[in-house]
Amino acid sequence: MDVDVVPVGDVSARVKREASDGLRTVYECAVSMHEPESIPTGAYDADRDQYRAEEFIDLAQRVGAGEKNIAITPEDLYYRRRNYVFGLAYLSGSGSVISTHRLQTTSDGGFSNRSAGDIFADRVRKEVVHEIGHTLGLEHCDNKRCVMNFSPTVREVDVKEQSLCGTCQRDVA
Ligand SMILES: [Zn+2]
Ligand SMILES: [Zn+2]
Repeated sequence: MDVDVVPVGDVSARVKREASDGLRTVYECAVSMHEPESIPTGAYDADRDQYRAEEFIDLAQRVGAGEKNIAITPEDLYYRRRNYVFGLAYLSGSGSVISTHRLQTTSDGGFSNRSAGDIFADRVRKEVVHEIGHTLGLEHCDNKRCVMNFSPTVREVDVKEQSLCGTCQRDVA
């Protein structure tokens, strides 16, 4: 498998590096970095002051050069009735997206002794690994330590590991 990372908007060098490293580590895949793309026209919802996640997935699918493609954006995303999403992917599709917007908003409440920058970096890695997992056919996992656990808040993101549990690992292999 190879993954193309598609920065959409102003994505920092560290976020790009962490995303690539996270994917390489967990999936042992080749990762390429796409040229930055601008935010898709029509993605913005003025009533909500948020962006539609699906539009970013479509963009990643369209421009991405990989078997799997993941858009990364600093913009705040939502999907259908959910107030916000950290990321989104269609099961077994080729495109996916994560937003860093809400990953940096809070500390981990002393859960670890790590710096805010390192906590943020961990969240980025977990979210890209999670969304690419969906594109590989993985659904949510009940194991709270597994990266495929559904984690609607950063607290739950912080609890889980960056890797797949044994069951998910076997399912993806
Ligand atoms: Zn998910
Ligand atoms: Zn799992």
